[in-house]
Amino acid sequence: MNVVISVDMEGVCGVSSWVQVSPPEFGGLVSGAGYERARIQMTLEAGAAALGAFEAGAGGVTIADSHDGMRNLLPELLDERVRLVTGYDRPLSMVQGVEEPGVDALLLVGYHARASTVGAPLAHTWNGYVRDVRVNGTPAGEPYLNALLAAHFGVPVVFISGDDQAVAQVRDQLGEQVIGVSVKRGLSMFSAVHLHPKKALELIQAGAKRAVESARAAPLQISYPASVQLSFEHQARADQCERVPGVTRLDAMTVEYTSPDALHLFQTFRMLCKVADVRLNG
Ligand SMILES: [Zn+2]
Repeated sequence: MNVVISVDMEGVCGVSSWVQVSPPEFGGLVSGAGYERARIQMTLEAGAAALGAFEAGAGGVTIADSHDGMRNLLPELLDERVRLVTGYDRPLSMVQGVEEPGVDALLLVGYHARASTVGAPLAHTWNGYVRDVRVNGTPAGEPYLNALLAAHFGVPVVFISGDDQAVAQVRDQLGEQVIGVSVKRGLSMFSAVHLHPKKALELIQAGAKRAVESARAAPLQISYPASVQLSFEHQARADQCERVPGVTRLDAMTVEYTSPDALHLFQTFRMLCKVADVRLNG
């Protein structure tokens, strides 16, 4: 049994502010001590999931650092048996590793709710300016998009940890067989009630063990060709995306495209996010 653990940061225990998840070298926000503390908890949560997987008999565990510049985890705090994927702009981004032969399951750690979720700390999808993504009409956050991508390689999502609404969204969309561990209850965009960080680690390790032991989840199946509707928070972004061949404008904020498979769907989504990354002051 080989597993990949994709680790984001916004859903980690103790985190409820952009300040805590902003690496200093990317500037922009006041950062530093809060980030350094949060990256330790992020590493420990990834490590707890890895230990759970090993306890369940996993032979290979690959951890994909999947937040921002994707260089947040502190490898010296991880079990010596794990492999670590780091660095931004990887071909498969947050789920790099699922494409390798012999991978049986994907675990999501530190995940957050999708954009426009009310009462979910740091809820977003991919960046700060996507307002909504629909795949065949289904609202898709990062877990859903990553689940589609993993399914392209035959790999199911078996575990999710993060805030309560991130967990609920995943289990609602991917099925109750996905083991979920909520490490905090969201109160608003920037507030939450957290477990003790050590309690979070305990629950993640136990949950990951159970998830890998049972691993009853099937890869996420949807019908293809799939239609994707992508809405932004500003029409200038849709203006740009509309000019990409194959993309049509639906309304001021929304564009649409069609994909024959999940890989095309994901890479087009990612490209359109880059196209939409325009200055808004004219
Ligand atoms: Zn993130």
